[in-house]
Parts: sequence; structure tokens; C-alpha cells
Amino acid sequence: MIVVGGGWAGLATAVELARHGLPVRLFEATRQLGGRARRVRFGERAVDNGQHLMIGAYRDTLTLLQRVGVDLTRVLHRQRLALRLRDAGGQRMALRTAPLPAPLHLLAGLLTARGLSLLDRRKALRFGRRLGSLRPTPDQDISVDALLRSEQQTAALMQTLWQPLCLATLNTPSQHASARVFLRVLDEAFLHQRAHSDLLVPALDLGRVLSDPCAAFLELHRVRIDLGARVDALDLRGNRVQGVRVGGRSLAARQVVIATDARNSRRLLDGVPALATLGRRLGDLGSEPIATLYLQYPPAVRLAGGMTGLLDGHGQWLFDRRLCGQPGLMALVISGDGPHMTMPPEVLVDALRAQVRACFPRWPQPLSHLLVREKHATFSCRPGIDRLRPAVRTPLRGAWLAGDYTDTGLPATLEGAVRSGHACAAQLRAEELVHCRP
Ligand SMILES: Cc1cc2nc3c(=O)[nH]c(=O)nc-3n(C[C@H](O)[C@H](O)[C@H](O)COP(=O)(O)OP(=O)(O)OC[C@H]3O[C@@H](n4cnc5c(N)ncnc54)[C@H](O)[C@@H]3O)c2cc1C
Repeated sequence: MIVVGGGWAGLATAVELARHGLPVRLFEATRQLGGRARRVRFGERAVDNGQHLMIGAYRDTLTLLQRVGVDLTRVLHRQRLALRLRDAGGQRMALRTAPLPAPLHLLAGLLTARGLSLLDRRKALRFGRRLGSLRPTPDQDISVDALLRSEQQTAALMQTLWQPLCLATLNTPSQHASARVFLRVLDEAFLHQRAHSDLLVPALDLGRVLSDPCAAFLELHRVRIDLGARVDALDLRGNRVQGVRVGGRSLAARQVVIATDARNSRRLLDGVPALATLGRRLGDLGSEPIATLYLQYPPAVRLAGGMTGLLDGHGQWLFDRRLCGQPGLMALVISGDGPHMTMPPEVLVDALRAQVRACFPRWPQPLSHLLVREKHATFSCRPGIDRLRPAVRTPLRGAWLAGDYTDTGLPATLEGAVRSGHACAAQLRAEELVHCRP
């Protein structure tokens, strides 16, 4: 069996297949595992290509981490969800889930949120209570803004709560974002167990959180990992895959899991007549960027609460990397597209530094910085997107898909990637069992 791609979807697939004793070989085009959730160097420090957050509802991710032997309490810092938003004038909104069973923890949080008027709270509470009954089908999908208007959310609620939450979770601005996927996120986070909405902040760089433990697990299970090995094409015989082509060589395999991002999956599928239509559909998914500016301050500088949303500027969320053992290091994140993606880097860095300085005038100047702009960070989570998302099983025998863009119902997230990998491995194993039955 061959897995193409060593992001979190490919790793989840490979671990699951290897765990059940199936022979696997994994090819990764770059020189490291992790894909869009990978380690990058910032001077002597290891940081990530962008600050990543998880929540307690990431059930498949937590299972995978445990399966490869990770001690969750060592690599993830768990904290009750607290959202604070501020601008240069000070704090504008603060919401904290209450220590009550779901969904009361959310409703009580909305009721006691600071910075909201009585009317805002009443309207938010009404929406919170209706969450479980709102289930648009892919064909009925509308934008998040249209949903919020139809749910009579006030301008203050939209600007200081739902829109920042939508952009942070779907990486798509609320006027263009899918209400169906947003409701799914709110459902998974808030409607089942209180712990599902907890924030899980990686305490180590993402390579040490998942890629390294997966690599060690796979090695132990005799899985060969080829880094710097780009799969150029699928090898076919009739309506069946019989392997892949890598660096001019053909390698035979009965099953091939294409665990690449949507753009690279499209490239691989385009050359296959039976999958060309599917490949073209992937082209319609589109993509959204994420930019992250790391700012290194003296170690004494700290951000109360560990993270805050910023209003009125390019920068949207500021994270204190103290929890990752990096005191004084702040990560400023900008989700979605905008002028910040085309500005000259030094102009953007100056604007972001000025925004942070306006909010925290007592902080000294940062000592150094690193800007990472990921042009294709996630698929664009637009209304109706679920109609375009493919299943893990393809019409071509032996060819499978895994990746955050498949039909998980979730936005492009680590959990979406891992869930798709698990779904793919489960279906592939079921097919292998049928195949091997005497
Ligand atoms: C800056 C940033 C911040 C993010 N923040 C969050 C967050 O806070 N929380 C969250 O849950 N999610 C977040 N995400 C999203 C999350 O990182 C992705 O959804 C997830 O990593 C996707 O994993 P994947 O395995 O589906 O795809 P990828 O990670 O893209 O993996 C695909 C792999 O395939 C390899 N590949 C491609 N073509 C070939 C080929 N032909 N041959 C061999 N290998 C190939 C690639 O090199 C890559 O390693 C963020 C993403 C970014 C970029």
C-alpha cells in the first residue's frame, strides 16, 4: 500500500493501516513531515508555519496522538474557552464558558459576557438555544452573515463575536463563509460535552506534537518513509491503479492513498481519465491564505490570558508562545485574504508592529521577527462547499483520497485531516478484508 503525502491526513492513514498490520510505504515530496502543520526555524527556535489551535472536540486527533504514544498532558495545554477582543482603546468583549454541562456552559458564557448590551445577550442566547435545530443541507446553504441576520444577531454581536469566530475557524470571512460548516463547528464545540470547547494549545512545536511521534511509530511498524520523494503520477491498468511513478521509477501497489492537499491531488487526478471530473471539481474548492508574524520580545513580556483578538487592524489574534516554552514570543495571526497578502513584507511588518504597540504601549520594541505567509493555507469554505467535497473512495479501483478537503463536513483543520485519514484507512481495510477472504 502506498500513501502519497506526509501531512496529518497521510500520517493518520499510514498509522491506522500499519497498526492493523498492513504493509505501507509513505512518500512525502518535501524534506519533512507535517504538510501545512509543520515546524519552521526562527533563529535558534523551532516555531510553526502558523500558530495552530485545537479544541477538545478534536476526537480523532486526540485518539491518533494517544495511539502513537503521545502523553496528551505533556504536549497540549488544556484551558477553558475564553475569548477576549480588544483594540487600542482597551477590551471590547470578553466571554468565558462556564463550569456547567453543555450547552449551558455556552449559554451562561453568553449571558455573562462583558462588553455586550442586554439586547446583545438576549439575542445571542436565543441563537445559542436554537443552534441544535439549525441544519441546512448543502443545497440550502447560505452565508454566515445571512444566517446571523436571519437569527437577528445585532451588529455588535456580529462584529465582536460571530464574525471573528467564523474567520478564525473557517478561515473565510463571514460574508462568504458557509453557514452549514459554521453551524457544524458550533455543534461539535458546544452542544455535546463541556470539554469539547476547551482550547488545546500545543505546548511544543507541531513537529514534536505529531510528526515525530508518528514517524517513530511508523518506523517501529516497518513503514518506509521516503522524504523528498514527489509522486509524479499514478500507474494504471484499465480502471485500476497498480502503483505510482516517483522520480522516473514505477512502484507497484494494489492500493494508493492520495493524501496530498487539494491542489496537488488535482494534479495527480488530472492525468487519470476516470478521475478527471473529480480532479476538476477539486479546482473549484479555491483556497484562502493565513499570515503569521512572530515577534520576539524580551522574555518578561507576557500577554494576559495567553491570547486575545485584535480589532481595527490587519492583525486578528495575538498568541503568547510562553505556553510553548517560548517566553516573550508572540504570534500574530491574520486569517483569510486581504491587502496584507500583497503588501511588501517590511510594510506589513511595520503595520503589524504598530498595531501591537497601539494595544500594548508598555511593551518594548520587539527584538526580532519572522513573517510566514501561507498562500494556500485552507480551502475556501464558501456556501455550498460540501457539494464539491469528495468521498475518500474514488471511482478508480485502488485509488483513495485523504485530506482536510474531503467530505468530513468540517472546515480545513487538523481534525478534518485526521478524520479523513481514519475514514480512508477504515474503508480501505474493509475492502482488503473482502479481497483477502478465501
Ligand atoms: C498557517 C496555518 C494555520 C492553521 N491553523 C490551524 C489551526 O489553528 N487549527 C487547525 O485545526 N487547523 C489549522 N490549519 C489547517 C491545518 O493545518 C490543515 O487543515 C491540515 O494540516 C491539512 O492536512 P492535510 O494532511 O490534509 O494536508 P497537507 O498538510 O497539505 O499535507 C499534504 C502533504 O502532501 C505532500 N505532497 C503534495 N504533493 C505530493 C506529491 N505529489 N508527492 C508526495 N507528497 C506530496 C505535501 O508536501 C504535504 O506534506 C492551519 C493551516 C495553516 C497553513
